[in-house]
Amino acid sequence: AVPLVVAVSTTKSAKNGLLIRDRAAFERARDLDAIVFDKTGTLTEGRFGVSEVVALGGLDENEALALAAALEGQSEHPIARGIVRGAQDRGLTIQQPGEFRNLPGEGVEAEVGEATVRVVSPGYVERQGLAVNSDRPERLAADGHTVVYVVRDNEAVGAVALADIVREESRQAIDRLKALGIQCMMLTGDSQQVARSVAGELGLDDYFAEVLPDQKAKQIREVKDRGLTVAMVGDGVNDAPALVEADLGIAIGAGTDVAVESADIVLVNSDPRDVAAVAELSAATYRKMI
Ligand code: ADP
Ligand code: MG
Repeated sequence: AVPLVVAVSTTKSAKNGLLIRDRAAFERARDLDAIVFDKTGTLTEGRFGVSEVVALGGLDENEALALAAALEGQSEHPIARGIVRGAQDRGLTIQQPGEFRNLPGEGVEAEVGEATVRVVSPGYVERQGLAVNSDRPERLAADGHTVVYVVRDNEAVGAVALADIVREESRQAIDRLKALGIQCMMLTGDSQQVARSVAGELGLDDYFAEVLPDQKAKQIREVKDRGLTVAMVGDGVNDAPALVEADLGIAIGAGTDVAVESADIVLVNSDPRDVAAVAELSAATYRKMI
């Protein structure tokens, strides 16, 4: 039989947009030692604005941004939306690209005219050993900007620096979770510098940056190996294996179908404070039963 107090709590949670798949999962929320959050769109707004474009040769700033936007029109990534908006705000003409490919955790690629164009992470540029003839992009990154490179036929022709903002709700969620004695951590494909700056702003206990999509689950395992009971909070397709690996998988926001299917708990409203609400509600519920 379902203990009455659990039934009451889960009804209460459903009203608040917390969908709990199974009661065991809800009970596990009481025992959490650590919660790992996805960064973009979970702890941050996920609304990137273009703060600066750096021309690296061959193209001027506007041409580099327009070329990036030609590819990003095909992508759903928050960085992509920011680049397209940035190009539109500047009144740039955006070409229609040819065949398009996602490079998971690294960027996007498409044929534009005769050229193969990529918009990619600093990590990708480094791994490919591409020359960047300016230290401006790295300085922007050191400043906490998310930087992506525009690469045309294996030549870095531009860099776009974008800024996202930490959500006010995240600050409150982290403070409440820490009050419960839960360690708060962050997992991101974004750079070390960006991760360090967000982690510092929120007072996170730990963070993992430049994690490729297929490494996210492994990173959760590493936290479990510290002897911690861990929850993962994420919304993307890339987050699904990590949600499964965690002791408790929490899908947040509209989320992708894959993330929702992989989760034990679904938070319908895209509000990180609901993660704190689940932990608090579980603690209160199971305290009453003892
Ligand atoms: P996260 O979910 O933490 O943002 P992703 O795996 O989605 O991480 O992306 C990791 C990195 O890959 C981004 O920080 C960016 O450098 C690059 N990237 C991913 N998608 C795109 C895209 N559409 N355009 C440009 N860069 C991208
Ligand atoms: Mg993501």
